Amino acid sequence: MPTNNRLAKYRSALEAKLAELLASRSRREEITIEKAPDAVDDLQLTTLRELAISKLNRDFRLLREVRAALARLDEGTYGICLNCEEPIAPRRLEAIPWAAYCVRCQEAIDAGEAEAAPDGEFDLLDPGVIAEQSK
Ligand SMILES: [Zn+2]
Repeated sequence: MPTNNRLAKYRSALEAKLAELLASRSRREEITIEKAPDAVDDLQLTTLRELAISKLNRDFRLLREVRAALARLDEGTYGICLNCEEPIAPRRLEAIPWAAYCVRCQEAIDAGEAEAAPDGEFDLLDPGVIAEQSK
């Protein structure tokens, strides 16, 4: 188990990331493309929309991971791989404080060789986020 000192460090890193993600969510009106300026053709506009949507989806996923990591901190299971239940290397947690898997399991998941744990974190989200996601 990581020391309390280290856990406090991860917690503040996670809280900072959470604040950053929530701030970017409230700024999303600014990145929403309402209508095409004359110079932008439809194809370009579609591409811009898709980029904005994929960024929103990425942010949403990250937000969920950060919140799940904070919940694991509260539960005392932080830093334990969700797949193999081995400790996640501190180096990895310092780089990605919301990492849910050890490097080996993450690589297997990315390669499609292992399945990620089912998402059970929806209850951690405020309804606004879910409504936003389903738009
Ligand atoms: Zn693992």
